[in-house]
Amino acid sequence: MPRIQRLSTRLANQIAAGEVVERPASVVKELLENCLDAGSTRIDIDVESGGTKLIRIRDNGQGIAAEDLPLALARHATSKITSLEDLEAVSSLGFRGEALASIGSVSRLSLISNTADDSSEGQQAESEGRDMEVQVRPAAHPRGTTVEVRDLFFNTPARRKFLRTEKTEFSHLEEVVKRLALARFDVAFSLRHNGRVIHQLRPALDEPEQKRRVASLCGPAFMEQAIYIERELPEFKLQGWVGLPTFSRSQADLQYFFVNGRVIRDKLIAHAVKQAYRDVLYHGRHPAFVLYLSLDPAKVDVNVHPTKHEVRFRDGRDVHNFIFSSLHRALADVRPADQVESPG
Ligand code: ADP
Ligand code: MG
Repeated sequence: MPRIQRLSTRLANQIAAGEVVERPASVVKELLENCLDAGSTRIDIDVESGGTKLIRIRDNGQGIAAEDLPLALARHATSKITSLEDLEAVSSLGFRGEALASIGSVSRLSLISNTADDSSEGQQAESEGRDMEVQVRPAAHPRGTTVEVRDLFFNTPARRKFLRTEKTEFSHLEEVVKRLALARFDVAFSLRHNGRVIHQLRPALDEPEQKRRVASLCGPAFMEQAIYIERELPEFKLQGWVGLPTFSRSQADLQYFFVNGRVIRDKLIAHAVKQAYRDVLYHGRHPAFVLYLSLDPAKVDVNVHPTKHEVRFRDGRDVHNFIFSSLHRALADVRPADQVESPG
C-alpha cells in the first residue's frame, strides 16, 4: 500500500482549479468579479490569443495592502466573509477565496497593487515553486490592481488540450465581459484583443446611456424591438428590456437574467419567462431579454455551485409568480397575429 502524503500546495490548488478554471473566459470572470468587489469604477481588459497567451486586467479599485498580497494568492483566504452569518447574506461576487490561488497554480500569474491615492508606489507579487511561496517586490502602480495571467494551462497539458481555437476562446471571454458590463452600468469597461479595441464602454448612468450600452452589447436591433419594463413590490423589483415577439430568435442566445447584480441561469426563472412568452411566440422560437431582479440577499442562496451561476430561492414560487406576471402583463398587448419572424 502507498503511504498517505500531503499534496503540495500547487497540486492541491491545481485540483481545485479543475472546478473553476475551465478556459480563459473563466479566468476573466473571476478577475472581473474581484475588480467589481474592490469597488472599481473603471476596468481595462487586454487579452492576447483568445486569452490563452495573456489576460491582463487593470482596475482602479481599493487595491490590496502590501502585507495582504501573499494571502490574496493563498487558497481559502478572502477579505469578503469571516463567518457563516456573512455567507448567508453575502453581497460580494466572490467569497470562496479560491480564484487567485487556483488560477495561479495553472498559469504564470502576477499581481500588482496599490492602496494609496497619493502615491504610485505599489507592490508586485508572484507565487513560485511547489508550495507557491509568494515573492513580493516594489513596483509602480496607481491606486488599484493589475492582474496578469500568462500562458494559461502551461503546466497542465491535459487541460490545455481542451482549449478550442483562439476565436472560440475569445468569444466565450467576450461573453463574460458582456454579462458583467450589462450587470454594472456604473462601471467603465474596455476590452482589447490582440491590440484591437473590441468594446469601449463609458459609465452609463442615465437611461439613454444605458440603452446605448445595451444596444452596443446586444445589437441595435434588439433595442429597437424591446420594451422597457419596471415593476416593484415590497419584496421584489424587476426591471429591464424584453424583446418583442418580432425579435424572437432561433437560439436562446440573447437572454440575460441578473439576480442582485449576478448573472444566473436558473430553471425556475427560465420556466417563468417561457410561460410568459408562451402565447406570443411560435413554437421553437426563443425570446430575447435583459432583466434585473432585486430581492433581499438573505432570500437567495448563491453558494450552490463554485461558479455561482446557479442560485436557490427561499420562496421560489413567489419569485416565479412575480416574474411570470410582470412579463405576461408587459406582453399582453402583443398579439400573435402581429408577429413577423426575425432572422435572428
Ligand atoms: P475571493 O474573491 O473569493 O475573496 P480571490 O482568490 O478571488 O477570492 O481573491 C482573494 C482576495 O484578494 C480577495 O478576497 C481580495 O481581498 C483580494 N483581491 C483580489 N483581486 C482584487 C482586486 N482586483 N482588487 C482588490 N483586491 C483584490
Ligand atoms: Mg474572487
